Amino acid sequence: MNLFDFIKSNLPIADVIGEYVTLRATGTYLKGSCPFHSEKTGSFTVSPHRDIFYCFGCHESGDVIGFIAKLENCTQIEAAKLLTERYNLQPPEELLKEVQSAASIDKKKRYFLLCELVAQWCQESLKRSPQALEYLKNRGFDEETITRYSIGYFPGGHKGIKSLIAYIQSEHFLATDLIQANIFQEGKTLYSPFEERIIFPIQDNIGQFCGFGGRIFLPHDDRAKYYNSKESPFFIKGSILFGLDIAKRSIQKQNAVILVEGYTDCIALNQYGHKNSVATLGTACTPEHLAILARYADQIYMLYDGDAAGQKAIVRLTENCWNVNIELKVVSLPNREDPASFLVQGGSLKPLIDQASGIIDFFIQHSSENFAQKTLKQKLETVEKIIEIIRYIPDRLKRDMVLQETAQALNVPFDTLVKELASANTQQRSIKQVPYEQKIDVPYIWTIEDKLFSALILLFETVDIEKYSYAIELLNAPLKDILLLLIDKKKKNKQLKFTEFWSGLDKNDQQEVSKRVVRFNQDALKEDFEFIINKFGKKHWKNIIINAKQHIKEAQEANDSRRVKELLKNIQTLKIKFIDTDYSN
Ligand SMILES: [Zn+2]
Repeated sequence: MNLFDFIKSNLPIADVIGEYVTLRATGTYLKGSCPFHSEKTGSFTVSPHRDIFYCFGCHESGDVIGFIAKLENCTQIEAAKLLTERYNLQPPEELLKEVQSAASIDKKKRYFLLCELVAQWCQESLKRSPQALEYLKNRGFDEETITRYSIGYFPGGHKGIKSLIAYIQSEHFLATDLIQANIFQEGKTLYSPFEERIIFPIQDNIGQFCGFGGRIFLPHDDRAKYYNSKESPFFIKGSILFGLDIAKRSIQKQNAVILVEGYTDCIALNQYGHKNSVATLGTACTPEHLAILARYADQIYMLYDGDAAGQKAIVRLTENCWNVNIELKVVSLPNREDPASFLVQGGSLKPLIDQASGIIDFFIQHSSENFAQKTLKQKLETVEKIIEIIRYIPDRLKRDMVLQETAQALNVPFDTLVKELASANTQQRSIKQVPYEQKIDVPYIWTIEDKLFSALILLFETVDIEKYSYAIELLNAPLKDILLLLIDKKKKNKQLKFTEFWSGLDKNDQQEVSKRVVRFNQDALKEDFEFIINKFGKKHWKNIIINAKQHIKEAQEANDSRRVKELLKNIQTLKIKFIDTDYSN
């Protein structure tokens, strides 16, 4: 057994992938939104029985190690190391040697560890600062929330800097590491832009500390209200959602997520019982954010500050939402309040969530506000903008309904809008691609050949598949070659297991196997095996005979009379099975 086998046999693939994608059981396999391509249909499938995944959209496939390697953008050996550490696996000593060469992942891990230490230090500093504690209390954060989000305080002055340097020495970090991590900066002396700020550590979707947000709180502090960690290869704001690690389970359970723009709002929402809340890092929501959330839930509720910037952000988002399989609704807060202050003042979110409007409706309402008072030029621009959005609605009926609504809201004839839309479509079609993925209901039609192949691949541990060589040689490449290889390997190793065989295939062959294996039910194939063989045999009978004659001829030429006899007997048996016996009776 090597390290990869050890990991795979100790770690159910669905548990690992389930951390990144909400998987739903469909028959014997699990299904979800693909993390490797943007899609509207859930094409991503996982076979918990065979420990592999396959995407019918982008054809990505692999085992649990391949999944992590692809997602974390690291090598297989690095992924193996990540998994052993993350899931506390205890591989035998001799297997561990394999991971020692995984150097580049170490750099990333070291960065996360450093951030974790800084977060711990800030938490401890908070306990010693009555002023910072008082501020958090006044803002309505309770102790449980402070602990849950690891909220801390970064003390100011040289003493603080020295204390942090001493703290990180326990893990052999130096001040230069803090400079590289953008936590310290070099001026005349070392200082940190986080000094005298409340610290909100940022964790990625699997809980690794990867950055910080700092908020001023002292009276008369006239620096920028927020300071966030700078972007780096290990901290990319456009792909991180604050609080996702904490909210993940609730999001999956409720199949819905509440999205806000600031981490303080997210924390307040959580404290007030909305455990499925996440935040972008003070930036607008990107298509990548949407794609990440679409892996966990079908529904996003966006809470936005009623100000103009918030509205603009949502309008921009409307253009992106067609590419992901998630429904966006906008929750409008009354009186231009922000989510945190609304909750602290006793506001209840539930009725607002129930009344949330779809993002398109919101967009039209917003665009048509004060339409009558606009100048002609502004009116034309508004219509153009709305038409541009409506163009992206994939469903025709929905498109017409939205047009109807727009006509009413703007008091413009419906037919005029239809004409506008048609002309926008002809103008754009040649340049732009269809902006949404076509929904394909039947991506694959499984043939009897697919079924036979899958049955043999899934049952080879218990069935002597060499007996079916006459059928295998009639399959097309690469299916035929894969099965011939399997027969060969099985001869050399009677104990051969599926995972071992699968791991030894090249990438293309792995895909061919995966996409069939994830879709077919092993028990059903076992039950239907005779039926499948029979159907295949009847369909290909002519060619079975042609091949058999050829083999017999070869055996005769080699003067192998025993072989000739055996072949004749075989073909006789098959004839009885496929031709003389009528199974329909
Ligand atoms: Zn995919």
